[in-house]
Amino acid sequence: MSYFLQHQQNNIWHGKFSLFPEAAVAHCISTRLGGVSDKPYASLNLGLHVGDEPSKVRDNRRLLLQSLNLKPSAVCTPEQIHGDKVARVTAQDAGRGSLDYADCIPGTDALITSEPELPLMLCYADCTPILFFDPENLAIGIAHGGWKGTAASIAKKTLLSMEIEFGTKPEECLAAVGPAIGASCYTVGDEVAGIFRQNFPAYADKILTATDNVWHLDLAAANRYELLDAGILPENLESAETCTACENQWYFSHRKEGGHTGRHAAVMALRRY
Ligand SMILES: [Zn+2]
Repeated sequence: MSYFLQHQQNNIWHGKFSLFPEAAVAHCISTRLGGVSDKPYASLNLGLHVGDEPSKVRDNRRLLLQSLNLKPSAVCTPEQIHGDKVARVTAQDAGRGSLDYADCIPGTDALITSEPELPLMLCYADCTPILFFDPENLAIGIAHGGWKGTAASIAKKTLLSMEIEFGTKPEECLAAVGPAIGASCYTVGDEVAGIFRQNFPAYADKILTATDNVWHLDLAAANRYELLDAGILPENLESAETCTACENQWYFSHRKEGGHTGRHAAVMALRRY
């Protein structure tokens, strides 16, 4: 079944992966609908760092987290810098970045935890959300794969951190690649294309295509190949196959909206059971 959109209430929607068992782990990709922010952040903007009114972002976060039966005040979120740092968070990090951008986990593009009821949240507008659930060791992770993070193997590094911290075995771990800007809408220059060609020689031809002498990069595919390469089994990997620019009525798109837009989020939390 893979990825689908599920209506909650009051126009709040959850993008869901059928792979993740609901009883063990809460998760969703948010959409831009059902929030209180005005243009260009309309309406469920979850990013505190994009120029929107903080009080509206806090309201939006409350609406989304409550729809997942999670505590808005417990949300743990990082300052995403398009790097490759992975941070393990614990109960004492609950609430970091939930109300103020200033106290989020600094300089980090992936969070992992084994703490129940600690919601992890990362923000996106075209970049690739990558979600992990280890059902054996009860651990989760979320990564942010823009072109820089993807080129720096953030997906693989997140899985490796879960192996080190929780004993996660790649062949037992479930992983999902969320909505991201699709190849047909994502052109890149020679420099970026060259980096991907150099870093991913085995599948560069599958993630880079040239149309009229312009490079198109498939970020979601690059992350899928990375995950398979890292030992995730094909049957344990789901992909949203959704372009945030084409589906701009549902998602925020930095590229399509000229950089002035909000952020949707990937949220995940282990249930206590
Ligand atoms: Zn598109």
